[in-house]
Formats: sequence, structure tokens, C-alpha cells
Amino acid sequence: RGRPVRLVAVSKYQPVDAIRAAYDHGQRHFGENYIQELTDKAPQLPDDIAWHFIGAIQRNKVKRLVRVPNLAVVETVDSVKLAQALNDAVEQERGMGADGAEAPAAALRVYVQVNTSDEPNKNGVAPAEAAALATYVHTQCPHLRVVGLMTIGAAQHSHAGGANPDFERLVACRAALAAHPALRDAAPPVAQWALSMGMSADFEAAIQCGATSVRVGSEIFGRRP
Ligand SMILES: *Cc1c(COP(=O)(O)O)cnc(C)c1O
Repeated sequence: RGRPVRLVAVSKYQPVDAIRAAYDHGQRHFGENYIQELTDKAPQLPDDIAWHFIGAIQRNKVKRLVRVPNLAVVETVDSVKLAQALNDAVEQERGMGADGAEAPAAALRVYVQVNTSDEPNKNGVAPAEAAALATYVHTQCPHLRVVGLMTIGAAQHSHAGGANPDFERLVACRAALAAHPALRDAAPPVAQWALSMGMSADFEAAIQCGATSVRVGSEIFGRRP
């Protein structure tokens, strides 16, 4: 498409050997869905991997999540309460050392998850609520930095290619946020925020719609064990 698109290799349920094989071929961004699995695997793998957390988050596990030193982005922030919990955990777990010697940690990068398909079994805020949550993170969570939007979307059962209304909804959502006064001073500017959408079955359609980042698992690793 004449622009770079990030590939996040989704490695949930995959053994560390499979992840290392992809790493040895140059892959650096990997996605995991479960905090326990990520905290088990991350220490066994190179620390220049950029981990993307893409699963549902129980608030009582956020401390363990933010302790992963090479956690690059949490893609699944879908409530004010979760944003608060992550912000507090980063402050406590990554902030000043007890003796005050350590420099404050950099903010944790997050995406707002949007339920573009309006399906009750999918997480994410409604598109109309995305601006409020992004504004909350931007203005009230000094230890977080909102830098993107993420969606799953409904499986499209047509072979029409291209058009996917859910992916188009995420693009429209970012455009609406870009015009939002409270987000005017966001950095990077909202117009440059990541759009994380597209999985094995629909990553090509997502790229056609404007995805900046695709999350592909089984198409890379084969069926999950
Ligand atoms: C598992 C998962 C993926 C990857 O799915 P595949 O169909 O294996 O490519 C992408 N995104 C999320 C949120 C997932 O849970």
C-alpha cells in the first residue's frame, strides 16, 4: 500500500521455540492474550522483543503485566477503571525506586479498544464512547500514553474483499477523535495514532482500510496447539 504496516505476530498458546524461530527470522513484535502466559514466556526470550498485550485484562493482574520490562503496548484498554488500574500500577511498579534513585519510568503506551461490531461477546467501548475514554487517559493518566485504537470486528463471511464496515468504523472513530478539542495537544497527534485491526482471516482487508498494525497468529504459526 506504499506505507509501512506493522506485523504483530500473535503467539498465544505457542511455545517459546516457535516464537524464537520467528524472532530468528527478524520478527520483533509479538502479541499475547494472557498475563500468566506472557509473564512465563517473556523472561525466556530476547529482551528486544516488543510485546503487545491484546487480551482481556483482569484488574487484579495489572501489576504483573506492567512488570514485564519489554511490554511495548497494551492494546485492550476499554474502561476508565482499567486505565486507572494500569496508571496506578505503572506508578507503583515502574516508577521511582524506594530510595528515589531510579528515574521515573516512561509512560506505558496503550490503545483504546473499540467494539466496532457492537457484539456483546467482544470487549471494547462503543465508537461513540472512544473519545471520552481517550480523553480520560490523555488528561488523567500521567503514566499512560494513548497512541492508538484497536478493534477485532465481526468476521465477514463474504469474499468481497476490501470493504469491511467495522474497520471503516475504526478509521472514522480516529477521525472523530482527531477533531476532539480535548485531544488537540495529544502526542503523537491523533491523526497519526495506530489503527490495530486485522487478523489471519482479514488482515488484507484491514490494510486496505487503513490498518497501521495487523495482529496475525494462526496464519504464521499454524493452528494453535
Ligand atoms: C488470537 C487473536 C489474534 C490472532 O488471531 P488469528 O486468527 O490466529 O490470526 C488477533 N487479535 C486478537 C485480539 C486475538 O485474540
